[in-house]
Amino acid sequence: MTKKPEELILIGGGLTAKCLALMLSHSGYSYSWLAQKKEAVRRDKRTTTIHHAGMKMLSALGVWDKMSEPACPIHTIAVAKGGPPNKSGRKDWPLRWHNDAPAMAYVIRNAVLSDALDAVYRGPAPYAADITGFERTSDVTRLTDANGAEHHCHLAIACDGSASTIRSLARLKAVPFSVKQTALVSLLTTERPLHQTAYQRFLPGGPLAIMPTTDYEGSLVWSMPDEAAQKLAEAGAEAVSSALQNSFGDCLGKMTICDDILLWPLKPAFMPTITAPGLILAGDAAHALHPLAGMGFNLALADIAELADCLKTAHSRGLSAGHLSVQQSYAAKRRAEIISLTAVTQSVNWLFSQPDGLLSSLSELGFVGLGALPVKNKLKQIAMGGQLSRPSLFSGVMPF
Ligand SMILES: Cc1cc2nc3c(=O)[nH]c(=O)nc-3n(C[C@H](O)[C@H](O)[C@H](O)COP(=O)(O)OP(=O)(O)OC[C@H]3O[C@@H](n4cnc5c(N)ncnc54)[C@H](O)[C@@H]3O)c2cc1C
Repeated sequence: MTKKPEELILIGGGLTAKCLALMLSHSGYSYSWLAQKKEAVRRDKRTTTIHHAGMKMLSALGVWDKMSEPACPIHTIAVAKGGPPNKSGRKDWPLRWHNDAPAMAYVIRNAVLSDALDAVYRGPAPYAADITGFERTSDVTRLTDANGAEHHCHLAIACDGSASTIRSLARLKAVPFSVKQTALVSLLTTERPLHQTAYQRFLPGGPLAIMPTTDYEGSLVWSMPDEAAQKLAEAGAEAVSSALQNSFGDCLGKMTICDDILLWPLKPAFMPTITAPGLILAGDAAHALHPLAGMGFNLALADIAELADCLKTAHSRGLSAGHLSVQQSYAAKRRAEIISLTAVTQSVNWLFSQPDGLLSSLSELGFVGLGALPVKNKLKQIAMGGQLSRPSLFSGVMPF
């Protein structure tokens, strides 16, 4: 139970909360941190693709050099619509983006990133609490946990994931998109080198992505209809390897699943409002994207970096973190990027996953349009980050 309200309370224990705690530890504001107690900590076996601007931010925060294994750079992105060309003579991977230096993005294991964030963090440790109540009265946000304890602050920052309880308690809407897809996630080895290339094939059932983790190992995120994913995962690694080979083709030689097969039901949603009096949402609580563009955590990094600039301004004016200007400028800075990336990922997934027919032909036109030079260059810049939002941390500059 806290008597005097805290300046800030951070809620969540995922990658967004860890990174936000690190930013807050430099901000000059006092804060406490609440995270659900985990009975047995399950390691997140996924990988995350972090764009160039995100890498600069993590370097400025001292995280990048603390990673126990190097991130794999991505210099080429290859995209195709439909399965491998077989004998039709059609060119495979018609859309390609390349950048010699710097790398467009980097692939890192989530567990490695999480450990590096823990290693550099010097602020208050998270206090175990499952938040079940939210109330805002007289400039104070009152959070109640499952044990009935109350936690008071001027501003709460909720990073409690896509099914955010705090978002619901604050009556902020989430508009779900019904995709009926599950991502089948694993690691695979390849016979031929990946050459630091990220592959994405838009198949009728959903996008299949392979991100390089080393020269001969890649991370698979294969989105497909829920039932198909369930069946395939149950059939085991050999069946997944064989289905993968058929759907992806032979450009990487023989591919073999070499890790556990995990299933992630996809529940993308749009949150029209990401602040309320005394509350800010960040990470998946503020935007739940389809993983096809590998942008979910990159958006979370942008939330944190923009919030850092807002807090810096408030601090230099001697304002409380709960001052209305912080929420207003954060909401304004995040709006355009969240709306555009939500719209792009949803429409690309829908259009490029159409079976043969009129829509499929239209999507073919759209696909060709992506290859037009100005669009292609713009997409490359967006993939590298720092285009749709330009906070100081994305240039590698600490605002504090
Ligand atoms: C298959 C897949 C692949 C992906 N690949 C990429 C990629 O390549 N690049 C990329 O940028 N993004 C990627 N993403 C997205 C990325 O994984 C997420 O954006 C990111 O993990 C979200 O982290 P988060 O901390 O916001 O949420 P979460 O990881 O969901 O964490 C939420 C936290 O809040 C806590 N919590 C929940 N409720 C409460 C409560 N009531 N009280 C207290 N605490 C609470 C939970 O315990 C948890 O610790 C991918 C996503 C998927 C599904």
